[in-house]
Amino acid sequence: MAEKINIFEENSPENEDEANSGFVNESYEELIKHLETDGYIQTPVIAEAFRKIDRKDFVPPELLGEAYFDSALAIGFEQTISQPLVVAFMLELLRPKPGERVLDVGSGSGWQAAILAELVGETGQVVGIERIKELAEKAKENIGKYGFIDSGRVRIVVGDGSKKMENEPPFNKIIAAAAAEEIPESWKEELVVGGRIVAPVGQSIVVIDKIKPDQFETKEYFGFSFVPLVKSKN
Ligand code: SAH
Repeated sequence: MAEKINIFEENSPENEDEANSGFVNESYEELIKHLETDGYIQTPVIAEAFRKIDRKDFVPPELLGEAYFDSALAIGFEQTISQPLVVAFMLELLRPKPGERVLDVGSGSGWQAAILAELVGETGQVVGIERIKELAEKAKENIGKYGFIDSGRVRIVVGDGSKKMENEPPFNKIIAAAAAEEIPESWKEELVVGGRIVAPVGQSIVVIDKIKPDQFETKEYFGFSFVPLVKSKN
């Protein structure tokens, strides 16, 4: 049985004052400070990576005024750039390290992929998979502002991230931004032993550690909402 941890009250829209303390921020620094004060960003390297990758470089021009709000924002095609609090929470659970290979499923605007690239450093690699071609193009453009596309540190591919990727060595970490009904088997296969998956399932974020090739440990944090992981029909 997965351990269930309920953080629903903190995120509940019914509890707006508390949930959204730090919702409207004047600057990126103010947003990051709120995430630190509220305990979503806990690790100095994660704070530093957030600071380097400015969210305004990943939101559509018409929403620039809201880039530093702690909320998901529309990026077109009925998709959103994730809420900063959720990105922070998931990255703290994922703990990507320098030199690691990370798979970012549902790379959307590319914001999280760029933060991951900062965290894995020059010797690491991030593969982002996005099913909507136009968003994948946009993500490349956005991430390109930081030089990670030209250097090859980030690769964005168009496809169904719930399927096993061909010709890809295994990943140390896998993170997803769209909620599946259950964790795709392919992710467990694509993960190295000792690796970790952090992904939304329904309204929870689950953390899965690969202990042995056929042994996994799961933890569950309840109380989030995500866009659905859309599987292709074939
Ligand atoms: N990390 C992104 C989040 C984007 S929202 C950001 O901060 O911008 C989640 C994304 O997952 C959407 O862009 C959606 O198109 C994509 N998605 C949904 N199902 C998918 C699938 N099966 N494979 C790849 N991408 C998928």
